[in-house]
Amino acid sequence: MGFEIEIAQNAGACFGVMRALKMVNEAATLDGQKHTLGPLIHNPQVVDELAKKGVDVANSLDEAREGTLVLRSHGTAPQLVQEAYERGFNVIDATCPYVTKVQRRARELGEDGFGVVIIGELGHAEVEGIRAWGGDAVVAVADTPEKLPAALPAKVGVVIQTTQSQEHVDAVLEVLRRRVTELRVEETVCFATQKRQQSCAELAARADAMLIVGGRNSGNTTRLFEIARARCANSHHFEAADEIETAWLNDVALVGITAGASTPAEHIEAVRTRLVELGGLG
Ligand code: SF4
Repeated sequence: MGFEIEIAQNAGACFGVMRALKMVNEAATLDGQKHTLGPLIHNPQVVDELAKKGVDVANSLDEAREGTLVLRSHGTAPQLVQEAYERGFNVIDATCPYVTKVQRRARELGEDGFGVVIIGELGHAEVEGIRAWGGDAVVAVADTPEKLPAALPAKVGVVIQTTQSQEHVDAVLEVLRRRVTELRVEETVCFATQKRQQSCAELAARADAMLIVGGRNSGNTTRLFEIARARCANSHHFEAADEIETAWLNDVALVGITAGASTPAEHIEAVRTRLVELGGLG
């Protein structure tokens, strides 16, 4: 007997990623060398497709050397942006406006005398960019309460990585409220992330299997997977339709699909098509 397939109401490429892709596709038509500074988005298939159009990934300004330089949607440290202009690159800034907002808030909180806590994933490109914008005022990066330092200033301002899950945010805030005298919280999780997480939770609660499509190195996709797995034990995170295993589909009546903010619509469609080949009802 076949199974039903349902795609989460909000899934896949968000406003910021679509905007960045449009900008980089326009850049691809320019003469000369074209680079993104780091991978444009956390999706290896998309990065490969861009390479075929002549836009490669440069991991530093030295590696890029010259030409057009597209700054990725996750944002870039201000010092690096300035240096890119000074070195004469044709800079195209594809930073998502929601990320720009977090960067500015981090800097403003520091200027207002707050120690800044970033609720986010240490080492993630967006978080490292926000940290650079916050400068010396940043006292911690934590996505769980255990990662907060032993000593915190009396006045703490919080900014949140745009793709953090509400569970992580609530857990860290609960502890901060007990530990500091004055707490100012900037609610900077982006609308696209909130919608994707809510739709994922709603579908996972009904589904017998949940398929989460997106880069393995994509933080927002990983958080969708965590949200799905908490509600549906038969949840799987993968990058491409040919990774689907038939064992995941044993005795299922409803298979849910969702995808991270950096997953293009064609990749979701490829998963749906593969499911139909494996017995899904379309
Ligand atoms: S997830 Fe949100 S912040 Fe990140 S690129 Fe998309 S819209 Fe922008």
